[in-house]
Amino acid sequence: MSFHPASAPDFLPREQMNALQLDRLQKVAQRAYTKVELFRDRMRGFDGVHSLPEIADLPFTTKSDLRDTYPFGLFASPIEQVVRLHASSGTTGKPIVVAYTKEDLDVWTNVMVRAFAACGLTRGDIIQNAYGYGLFTGGLGAHYGAEALGATVIPISGGNTERQIMVLKDFNVTAICCTPSYFLHLLERAGEMGVNIADLPLRAGIFGAEPWTDSMRARIQVSGGIRAYDIYGLTEIIGPGVAIECEAQDGLHIFEDHFYPEIIDPDTGQPLPEGAEGELVLTTLSKQAMPLLRYRTRDITALIPGPCRCGRTLRRMRRIGRRSDDMLIVRGVNVFPSQIETALLAVEGTLPHYQIVLTRDKGLDQMEVLVEVTSEVFSDKVGALEGLHDRLAAALEHTLGIRAHVRLVGPQTIQRSEGKAKRVFDRRNLA
Ligand SMILES: [Zn+2]
Repeated sequence: MSFHPASAPDFLPREQMNALQLDRLQKVAQRAYTKVELFRDRMRGFDGVHSLPEIADLPFTTKSDLRDTYPFGLFASPIEQVVRLHASSGTTGKPIVVAYTKEDLDVWTNVMVRAFAACGLTRGDIIQNAYGYGLFTGGLGAHYGAEALGATVIPISGGNTERQIMVLKDFNVTAICCTPSYFLHLLERAGEMGVNIADLPLRAGIFGAEPWTDSMRARIQVSGGIRAYDIYGLTEIIGPGVAIECEAQDGLHIFEDHFYPEIIDPDTGQPLPEGAEGELVLTTLSKQAMPLLRYRTRDITALIPGPCRCGRTLRRMRRIGRRSDDMLIVRGVNVFPSQIETALLAVEGTLPHYQIVLTRDKGLDQMEVLVEVTSEVFSDKVGALEGLHDRLAAALEHTLGIRAHVRLVGPQTIQRSEGKAKRVFDRRNLA
């Protein structure tokens, strides 16, 4: 196993980690209270944090707080100390804006080095960074981390798929960073160009910025001949590098010397015991320019008890399968897109490209799932298609508890994405 000196905090004994967390929590809570009006208003009578469990007495922060204080209202540093801004586009209206001091950028680079090291990358690796460069945090976050690791970085950014494949092949790339859906697109396009990615030196993919299931991972690993690692992060907290899987691929280690995790009941806001599933809440322990206390991520996960095979003492969380706000209610039943993905990919003959379309007919919700099937199945006799259709419909009904219309489509029918895939189209409120 490779070891990078920056990874030392990953192995801290629990008591030392807790002491470090408490020290940083005290400072960040004081900073937020002193420097940011929103926190000062919500923390009237604040007199310090005396133990880690007391974090539960601090107020939550939500995405709407970032929108309401747009653009600079949550900054705790004067603008002369802010050396970088990033922004994340919302679904509507203004983006949310985040700020970094020089120290914040150093922390970000540090956690990204540790993230790459955790999945076995070293200075000898050639990393193709296909995350978008720009206001989106993915590109620059991965870039500086990979450089500081000592790896060779190819700052190709997103898009231009043919060029991506040429570089992947000609530059002997060993690791790639992008969204999992974009990597699927690369695999497919490469096949059409006569390049089998599984035959290239590429051995690892660092995939994030959208949820993906274990079934999707299995497909990617087999067809790409790589190990696919899940990286987690969010703009509000720092960008990519909040947590990552190690080589054990058994949960994501949270860089908890900088990001303090809690799991709460999303309905009551009450902290849940270790191991229970709930909403992930994160506190930035070292952020200077824009500290966030108890930020509600809307991501549903659980902390995994017990030590990891890799020896890291950093606590792990389960992969994010769903967000509390991506739940669809169809005919009164709760449906998560991840359930649909898992059910579809469990059936042989499907391709990992699908869309969920919701409509309303005479007041009744209708769910149609479009699934691409392999060209062998698609060009086969009608019998094979019908059989597959029935198996998929049965698998969906079994998983979801409601019937969905399944429509099988040929390869390349569903639009490919160069960033985050859009898979759900809810047209129920359109006239
Ligand atoms: Zn581990």
